Amino acid sequence: MSSTAPLTSKTAIVTGSTSGIGLAIARGLAQAGADVVLNGFGKPEEIEQARAGIASAFGVRAHYSDADMTKPDQIAAMVRDAEERFGTVDILVNNAGIQFVSAIEEFPGEKWEQIIAINLSSAFYAMQAAIPGMKRREWGRIINTASAHSLVASPYKSAYVAAKHGIAGLTKTAALELAPHKVTANCISPGYVWTPLVEAQIPDTMKARGLTKEQVIDDVLLKAQPTKAFVTVDQVAALAVFLCSDAASQITGANMTMDGGWTAQ
Ligand code: NAD
Repeated sequence: MSSTAPLTSKTAIVTGSTSGIGLAIARGLAQAGADVVLNGFGKPEEIEQARAGIASAFGVRAHYSDADMTKPDQIAAMVRDAEERFGTVDILVNNAGIQFVSAIEEFPGEKWEQIIAINLSSAFYAMQAAIPGMKRREWGRIINTASAHSLVASPYKSAYVAAKHGIAGLTKTAALELAPHKVTANCISPGYVWTPLVEAQIPDTMKARGLTKEQVIDDVLLKAQPTKAFVTVDQVAALAVFLCSDAASQITGANMTMDGGWTAQ
């Protein structure tokens, strides 16, 4: 393996990679030499621009799957298609996620179901589809984007906190099942990362708590983070790339925080 492109000849699927953290992880893995499958929603021309940009910037193959992470059959088909197209799926990054902010007694049931499906169950179905190939090849990396909310709670985020605690447990279980097969499974748990997901929840938090935008940023979001700074998408991507390296082969079942000290409190 070359040190500049240690993931050459590997294929990675990154769910929810048309934006934010997922897009940065897909770019990071491509920079390390991996062929990548992008997934998620968005404007077709912007998605194509991101896909083509990754392929040309890093000299890898990049494909886009429009699989909906609420649909188990589409998730399985995405993995199958990637295996047929590229020969293997060596790296699976379960990253797709949404947020909804509301008190439990007003939380719409359909939002609860949607968050559990996208933020938790999609990882289960993608792992179910990708694990047999990883076991056969005796190499694999599963990285689940969890959150500081996999370790601690915040009010008004019941479904998100439940899903993220769930994915932390799912990751540990996968790590134990896959340890004999040289397949690792880990969570990355960022604190607040400045992405569209965070920006979009500001109006609802303003409403739920009766605060201004500045108050939400300073007194709610960054209040939890002792460093008083947002995590960057590139920092999360760098950790994901490290978890795919040989140096990380003994890291499995870990929940790796990157939260400016939030969960140390
Ligand atoms: P984002 O909104 O920028 O990206 C979310 C991605 O998920 C997009 O590509 C979107 O199209 C995709 N997606 C949404 N619903 C989907 C569906 N049904 N099927 C397929 N794709 C779907 O958000 P982000 O901040 O980059 O979040 C990415 C992950 O990181 C999420 O799991 C989120 O919970 C987690 N996270 C984010 C933060 C943060 O502060 N931004 C902190 C901790 C964890």
